[in-house]
Amino acid sequence: MFEKLKQAFSAVTSAVREKELNEKELDDVVFNFQLSLIESDVAQSVAEALTHEVQKSLAGTKVDRASDPSEVVGQRLAAVLEASFSKAGSVDLVENVREKKKTGEPYVVLFLGINGTGKTTTVAKVANFLKKKDLSVVCAAGDTHRPGAIEQLTEHAERLGLKVVSQRYGADPAAVGRDGVLYAKAHHLDCLLIDTAGRMQTNQNLMEEMAKIVRVVKPDFRIFVADALTGNDAVSQAELFNQHVGFDGAVLTKADADVRGGAALSIVYSTGKPVLFLGVGQGYDDLVPFDTQKFLDSLLKPD
Ligand code: GDP
Repeated sequence: MFEKLKQAFSAVTSAVREKELNEKELDDVVFNFQLSLIESDVAQSVAEALTHEVQKSLAGTKVDRASDPSEVVGQRLAAVLEASFSKAGSVDLVENVREKKKTGEPYVVLFLGINGTGKTTTVAKVANFLKKKDLSVVCAAGDTHRPGAIEQLTEHAERLGLKVVSQRYGADPAAVGRDGVLYAKAHHLDCLLIDTAGRMQTNQNLMEEMAKIVRVVKPDFRIFVADALTGNDAVSQAELFNQHVGFDGAVLTKADADVRGGAALSIVYSTGKPVLFLGVGQGYDDLVPFDTQKFLDSLLKPD
């Protein structure tokens, strides 16, 4: 995973290591770094901002030629990235559900994202993950638009031995969500996971529908699901949802096939929200908690 992004980072440090750099050369190194970030699917605006931050932090720094200048650049890069990931913070979903459980109320998670990103599969994977932590889960089929969406979620849930709350196609998704909350409360379940629609005639419609669900259901947590392979698209979708509906954390799917790695970096940097999990395959167990330190180490430390 993410080899290309790792190369972008190691290229900038080794370029500095191999040359005696004057200011112009350092500019070139930084410019090439920006290009390789973009090639690794880091969103252009994020690549520019990152490069600018690194350049700013290097300005006026006297790199002692006797020491290893690549270390200085490497440290600056690490500092810039660590600051943005630590600002986004981290989330322990299991801990959150357990805390809410103490109040006797279900923890409600709303899943947001565009069709095809792996949202329904991710709902099932998260349900499986929570179930394995001895938490009781019910799902709600909030995508009442896409033909087959209710059956798809129901099939996943049946395989996992879970109940799905649903209504007919065309029903108000906010009402489905509310039904889910009532069901979870009545059955003293720990967690409700609500799937939602991902395509409507216009983005405006979709955003309004999602905002309505949020108003009615008042979820404890909103998870934005993005397909890591879609790079820049994933980032603009994240910005759109974050601006119009708001979300609290992201799941990046298809990370198993993603050699570029830029989406994780871009989403955290541009929305300030943490990545909770990576989807790493089509099976229910193919969900791994995102480890920020491991991700940063894998980018910044040579093998
Ligand atoms: P939705 O339209 O967003 O609900 O997307 P689906 O959940 O139907 O998933 C679309 C396709 O992506 C399905 O074939 C899934 O099996 C596949 N998929 C979902 N997550 C992953 C993942 O993490 N890795 C891989 N390789 N495939 C995935």
